[in-house]
Amino acid sequence: MEKGSHQVLNKNYGHLISFGFVEGEPFFCIGPHCKYHIGRYFLCLFSFFLVTSLLFLLVVCPAVSSGNTQLGAMIFGFLLINYLLAAVINPGVETRKEPLGNGEGEGSENFCSECEVYREEKTEHCDDCGVCIQGYDHHCPWTSKCIGKGNICFFYNFLIGILISFIFCTGTLAMFGQVHRG
Ligand SMILES: [Zn+2]
Ligand SMILES: [Zn+2]
Repeated sequence: MEKGSHQVLNKNYGHLISFGFVEGEPFFCIGPHCKYHIGRYFLCLFSFFLVTSLLFLLVVCPAVSSGNTQLGAMIFGFLLINYLLAAVINPGVETRKEPLGNGEGEGSENFCSECEVYREEKTEHCDDCGVCIQGYDHHCPWTSKCIGKGNICFFYNFLIGILISFIFCTGTLAMFGQVHRG
């Protein structure tokens, strides 16, 4: 290969756009945004959360109390940050080019012939991302890529954030209604 050292910095895996390499492994991986329509789900849902939470914080919360606005900002911030991290952090792209050391070589079920890497248990190939993912959980259209070992904690935090936001909004709207009636 004659492409020089800068190619390492821009190396992509499968359909993922990878950057920010740490010890040869990508730190950030963005799902197939530009190539497939699936990437737009993230941008649409993220914008939706951002706009609705800002409207809520600027219009509804101040009518209830300033403490309510601060609590809302923390909850929505938690939701948005974890959603963003789940969408940009490397989900666990398998890059191992050597056998695992248990005597199994190319052709065994631990070898992925599509990305030519050796897989450990719980590593699975994703056709949408075009790579093998360590600790594969599922391919998530809402983050536009796989949920695996690297980003599953942010994904769970995001789900918890949705639940807490829902409870917070319901409670705040109930108080908002009382303020306006009283
Ligand atoms: Zn693979
Ligand atoms: Zn995937």
